[in-house]
Amino acid sequence: TTPVETLEFQSEARQLLQLMIHSIYSNKDTFLRELVSNASDALDKLRLETYRDKDLDADTSDLHVRLEVDKDQRTLTVRDNGIGMNRDDVVNLIGTIAKSGTAEFLTKLKASQSQDPSISQDLIGQFGVGFYSSFMVADKVTLVTRRAGEAEGVRWESDGGGSYTIGPAEDAPQGTSVILHLKPADTDDQLHDYTSPAKLREVVKRYSDFITWPIRMAVETPAETSTTEAETTEDSDAAEQAEGETTKAEATPALETLNSMKALWARPKDEVTQEEYTEFYKHVSHDWSDPLETIRLAAEGTFEYQALLFLPSRAPLDLFMRDARRGVQLYVKRVFIMDDCEELVPEYLRFVKGVVDAQDLSLNVSREILQQDRQIQLIRRRLVKKVLSTIKDLMSAKPADYATFWSEFGRAVKEGLLSDFDNREAILEICSFPSTHDEEKPTTLREYIERMKEGQEHIYYLTGDSRTSIENSPHLEAFRAKGYEVLALTDQIDEMWIDSVDGFDGKRFQSVAKGQVDLDTEEEKKTSETERAQREKDFATLLSRMSESLSEQVKEVRLSARLTTSPACIVGDTHDVTPTLEKMYRAMGQ
Ligand code: ADP
Ligand code: MG
Repeated sequence: TTPVETLEFQSEARQLLQLMIHSIYSNKDTFLRELVSNASDALDKLRLETYRDKDLDADTSDLHVRLEVDKDQRTLTVRDNGIGMNRDDVVNLIGTIAKSGTAEFLTKLKASQSQDPSISQDLIGQFGVGFYSSFMVADKVTLVTRRAGEAEGVRWESDGGGSYTIGPAEDAPQGTSVILHLKPADTDDQLHDYTSPAKLREVVKRYSDFITWPIRMAVETPAETSTTEAETTEDSDAAEQAEGETTKAEATPALETLNSMKALWARPKDEVTQEEYTEFYKHVSHDWSDPLETIRLAAEGTFEYQALLFLPSRAPLDLFMRDARRGVQLYVKRVFIMDDCEELVPEYLRFVKGVVDAQDLSLNVSREILQQDRQIQLIRRRLVKKVLSTIKDLMSAKPADYATFWSEFGRAVKEGLLSDFDNREAILEICSFPSTHDEEKPTTLREYIERMKEGQEHIYYLTGDSRTSIENSPHLEAFRAKGYEVLALTDQIDEMWIDSVDGFDGKRFQSVAKGQVDLDTEEEKKTSETERAQREKDFATLLSRMSESLSEQVKEVRLSARLTTSPACIVGDTHDVTPTLEKMYRAMGQ
């Protein structure tokens, strides 16, 4: 057999562990939420695996989570009989952090630590630390696990320092046990006594009530009658234990199920509290912050489904990375089928989190089947419309929340202008853009149109790298002088969609940097006509000499009506690509 080895944590993992040990996260109770959430995921995975692989030698007869307390040893064990892990899994999943954006997160965190502890808390909340949160309450953690269908178990142990030990485990049952060796109790810290059944019951109820697997705990006296749903006796392992200890006369301790196990999305809307939604959100999203908005929808009849979706309040670090995951899980008749269901949400809404539970799909449904499934396409269409209309409602009902949403996810939403033609108008409706009208506050297109000057036909915009470069652009001068509002489009994605979208609400988008500008009214035109003719004559020689000497660089040199203070500017032809887009193409090697 393999001996016990001591291995180093990956450096990112080590840094995160240090954070947890010197915990700056004030809500310690959340460690239990994380461990229960992992246990629940492990049970989901096992059930799914047995659907996929009929030959898998696994026991699925009584899938559950179990909490065990040993007051004398000061340990708390969170045990599940789910999928478990083999040695490689443990090294890769527990000894390493594979999350994208980790390095970036740690840099930000280091920068924030010296300043304000609340920023660090915020960042941790944004990142989520999962299993490592155990070290907020434990000075040593032992993990014993065996992967379903495999013979050899694994024992892992660490005090959260630079290394951990890993070796074989004798007689490890299927699934995972996490044994927390709790830190010494502060004498008067009643609030954080995780050996107290009352405390554990409260924490599970608060954070994990909706978990669809039973979370059980042995209790000295049988549970009160109010929790009649609980199996009060004879859990299989309790029975085994009792057999082994034949000399003991006393009754096996009763097992209480701590959670109600009700799927939130299946409960009537008005019976679910916002706190319950929030905790559920944290479970499905692995986010530690509260969601910004909760969305429910359901369909009955020939194709029945329920959806419970969330808009997060913060963008994940990997939102713009290639492997960014989509956040909607698919369930079929309350059974978890898959994470990250691409078929249910388009890429530009990848930040939406939650669950869709379809009643009429097969439990064996695969990605290939989903791609072809007409019903799934219908659900997707409805989800998209509902998400867009929810955001639109936010704009008027909760403007501050909308502003948060837009600054976090606007760039992703705008990708939809290039990919979702059916909803283009609806997407434009929820966009907002920085504009010369107000330094501080971006404007929606509707608001822009309402402010349009009499006779103004187009929505004017200018693209550029930054607000400042746009503000300082000579292209803007004439528009500003005449009091026209111009949108300042600074996101890279703006360059892409603006050329392919005709307009909004019947108004075309018009770049102030392209083509000829003609901002004069009819009146002004008449009076300036003679003046212009004169100027053309005066400058004819200069213009032709400039055209000659710059013939390599420009197509034409002409007198301009767009400048008020700058002497000259470069403009593109109406159909030219903009300089920023040109830069992007070049960067992409085209
Ligand atoms: P996350 O849950 O966000 O992936 P965690 O730090 O909580 O991050 O867990 C890391 C990984 O370790 C999980 O994704 C899972 O693969 C594995 N893991 C953790 N706990 C368990 C468990 N009880 N059973 C099986 N695998 C687990
Ligand atoms: Mg987790």
